[in-house]
Amino acid sequence: MIEILPWQQKQMRQIFEMSKQDRLPHALLFSGPDGIGLKEFSLFFAASRLCLTKGSNDPCGHCQSCELFKGKSNPDIKLIEPDIKTGNFHVDTTRDLVNYTSLKAFLNNDMKIIIINEADVMNRSSANSLLKMLEEPSSQSMFILLSHRPSELLVTIRSRCQKINFYPTYSNESIDWVEKNFDNSKFSADLLLNLAGGAPLKVEALLEEEYLENRAQYLKDLELLNKKKANPVNIAACWNKLGAKSSIHCLMQLTNDLVRLKLSSQVKNITNTDLIDDLQGISNRLDLLKLIRSYDFILLKYKELTGPMNYNSLAILEEIALFWKNYKDSMA
Ligand SMILES: [Zn+2]
Repeated sequence: MIEILPWQQKQMRQIFEMSKQDRLPHALLFSGPDGIGLKEFSLFFAASRLCLTKGSNDPCGHCQSCELFKGKSNPDIKLIEPDIKTGNFHVDTTRDLVNYTSLKAFLNNDMKIIIINEADVMNRSSANSLLKMLEEPSSQSMFILLSHRPSELLVTIRSRCQKINFYPTYSNESIDWVEKNFDNSKFSADLLLNLAGGAPLKVEALLEEEYLENRAQYLKDLELLNKKKANPVNIAACWNKLGAKSSIHCLMQLTNDLVRLKLSSQVKNITNTDLIDDLQGISNRLDLLKLIRSYDFILLKYKELTGPMNYNSLAILEEIALFWKNYKDSMA
């Protein structure tokens, strides 16, 4: 049966306390960084809330509701997510939802739970339909909205949800969890969790993308650009091939470390602890202002790339490479 992730105990206590006191609202908003396990938490909570065996916070695993949950076919739980290809919700999503919420619960617990993953991606008209459902809640439906960017949700939607926040975790139990669940033969669990920004589930994507192996390449490219020995357009094309989002993310983490090392050469202050020697060398050769300005620039570009506007990823990477190569010239 589904289990709670170790760093989510506090939120679990919070929500079960509400449930015990009969204060559970009909709409909840779980927010936190990508990879913190919002979906896992919402499914655990849904299974537990709908479990027909009462008396424990954990779903029993053998009642009719739990059996259906294990088969991913509990009719009283509806998980809605954006389409993987388009990144948007299907146009019929909200119409289906209106129909779904108008029906009675199927099982004996008189409750249906609708989980909307990445709720902030919803377009305006879907969001308005959702708002209407939240304004006139049916007593049998509970909405759980999940979001990494809650500020992108309509204010009117946010205000109708009870918010439960999840934060990056670096605790020993989270490190232990990463150690148990991922291959840490090449890189320590501690380093993996740091590079994942304290979002343990994100480690999987880092390993798949060979993110850790690629870091040395980015550092080399930055050096070449700085010495004006490389063409920014070619470098940007290489970065784009490695994945635009992960490239910018990596460049951001590396320049952040370079700034930190410029200010204090303590290894504990940086993220890429295993690259300390290379980072320190580069940091020594560059001036602080260039590093700070570059970091700010990359951060800005990262926001552009991950924001709602569809910027051209290659063009963004070229801008970064050009900025890094020409910084001194443009300031002169
Ligand atoms: Zn059960």
